[in-house]
Amino acid sequence: MPPADARVAPATVQKIGSAESLRQIYVTGSNILPLESFLAALTTTFGDRPRRNEPMLNHTTLRLGGPAEVWLPVENIAELVTAVNLARQHQVPLLVLGGGANLLIGDAGIGGVVIQNRSSRVEFPPQPKSESEQVAKVVADSGVLLPNFARRCARRGLSGLEWAVGVPGTIGGAVVNNAGAYGSDMAHSLVRAELLSPDGEQVWQPVGWFDYDYRTSKLKGREKGWIVLRAELEMAFAPVAEVKARVDIFNAQRRASQPPGATSGSMFKNPPGDYAGRLIEAAGLKGHRLGQAQISPIHANFFQNLGGASAAEILRLIEMAQETVRARFGVELELEIEVMGEF
Ligand SMILES: Cc1cc2nc3c(=O)[nH]c(=O)nc-3n(C[C@H](O)[C@H](O)[C@H](O)COP(=O)(O)OP(=O)(O)OC[C@H]3O[C@@H](n4cnc5c(N)ncnc54)[C@H](O)[C@@H]3O)c2cc1C
Repeated sequence: MPPADARVAPATVQKIGSAESLRQIYVTGSNILPLESFLAALTTTFGDRPRRNEPMLNHTTLRLGGPAEVWLPVENIAELVTAVNLARQHQVPLLVLGGGANLLIGDAGIGGVVIQNRSSRVEFPPQPKSESEQVAKVVADSGVLLPNFARRCARRGLSGLEWAVGVPGTIGGAVVNNAGAYGSDMAHSLVRAELLSPDGEQVWQPVGWFDYDYRTSKLKGREKGWIVLRAELEMAFAPVAEVKARVDIFNAQRRASQPPGATSGSMFKNPPGDYAGRLIEAAGLKGHRLGQAQISPIHANFFQNLGGASAAEILRLIEMAQETVRARFGVELELEIEVMGEF
């Protein structure tokens, strides 16, 4: 049995044939496995839900990306675990997709299976019986949409995630990326999360285990093979009006500073002591356009698909920003989003 990571690591799994070919095969060491046996297993469990060649532009906030060889929406954690285990047993590369809010997927698509996480269960605590109850734990499935979750918390007078109302994507994506805004982030609220390990074990890990840093954790990068199943968050009880007022302030700030439309949020991490957007603007690239792809004229760290852009155009703008900022200011801009698939 190869090490668990090797079953999904791109370095050991080579794709052969065109994305359209029904006879896709994967080579891992000496094993040759037809994709069809995986599809047959998926169909046995999930009926007609798996789709071939599903355009990823339907599932990413940049509205970009060619077809996923196989795309499977899952509705709960048991289905998520089953789908991941099946992909691993059949040595098919897999991507667990949340809201697609932090990804650029290539125009030629993505091999293997994209598992769309739509698990949606939330366990809210009962309302406090006395004023001495100040904190509460909330457990949410990894597929729960973060802005929606933050609004539901606000309506119950649960404070701590007000920053998240304008951050698209899922709880799972936010746990992986340590999403955050306005001086807070997931690491502030996470108590522990349940994970599916690269070996297929379900384990709860405390927040300290995640090595959280600015927009990253030890889970980031799909080759790591850790899947987030559920998160337990600590929230504070507060008057509903107070929590809602903070939500409104953050929403207004966001509307005033960020472009609407198809983006992936901040393209680059802010370098220490500076802002990626300021550097790109100072390099003269704010508003720069390539076909239908544009560095936003409102906020230079947001890259927009104006409608019909290609992923290759966005990638070219990314490289242009990195090259120009490096040449002008000697600063290396590190991507916040993940780039994957074939271009
Ligand atoms: C308009 C806009 C504004 C934004 N503002 C902010 C902001 O203020 N702060 C901020 O931090 N981010 C921001 N973002 C970026 C984005 O919202 C976050 O990075 C978010 O956490 C991504 O979550 P997702 O579910 O969409 O992840 P996806 O893009 O679907 O996936 C990203 C990565 O996480 C992995 N992943 C997703 N779910 C799981 C899981 N359950 N288990 C294991 N791996 C998983 C994927 O495999 C992939 O590698 C913004 C994006 C947009 C479009």
